[in-house]
Amino acid sequence: MKITAKVIYNGSTVLDVKDVCFELGKKYALIGPNGSGKSTFLKCIAGLIRFDGETEGFDGAVYMPQNSFAFSMSTLSNVALAGKNKASINKEKAKRLLKKLEIGHLAKKNAVSLSGGEKQRMALARVLLDNHLVILLDEPTASCDAKSSLICERVIDEYVNESKAALIFATHSIKQAKRLADEFLLFEEGKITLRGKTGELDSLKNGFVECMIK
Ligand code: ADP
Repeated sequence: MKITAKVIYNGSTVLDVKDVCFELGKKYALIGPNGSGKSTFLKCIAGLIRFDGETEGFDGAVYMPQNSFAFSMSTLSNVALAGKNKASINKEKAKRLLKKLEIGHLAKKNAVSLSGGEKQRMALARVLLDNHLVILLDEPTASCDAKSSLICERVIDEYVNESKAALIFATHSIKQAKRLADEFLLFEEGKITLRGKTGELDSLKNGFVECMIK
């Protein structure tokens, strides 16, 4: 899979990347300061915004935005509605995922009243309900507490290992990048300034990386 993309807003270039390649079965963490272009990059791959350039091989990618949205219906229905199978199968799969994410007890609750972290886990269940070959997650555990984050990571990891999908996610945590990803891509001012194995992150001499949540 490959992407070349340039995005300009109000005359300033917020993303400018060329021939960025990803492989199926691998996990990639996007890191970098606020406003460095990580979300814009994910949105380009997901086909959600216009950009100059091209993508190759990202068809059928599924995308989880930074802010989880909830429809005014049960948590279970919020997840099941994303399924491509018949309703009963979607519901069964949704139930199993909610349990794995340890929010099974909230299945009947109206999703609008969930807490931020609960809503985020529901949104994660929604994107992981069916099989997709490219999973795009924008700070998937930003609203979760430490324990819930680990639960989410375990479920994401299991999904990607089983489906051999490519996982591309934005994070502000070095530990999360190391636990979940094989490689990191460092964004600075709309460009990818560094790319490497996540194991190298701890020893990286970079002002931003050295300040990341450890
Ligand atoms: P990150 O995800 O790394 O925090 P973003 O990709 O969200 O960064 O944003 C990159 C830059 O693009 C920021 O300066 C942001 O303000 C700007 N930006 C993002 N979306 C828009 C938009 N719809 N209109 C104008 N500027 C935008």
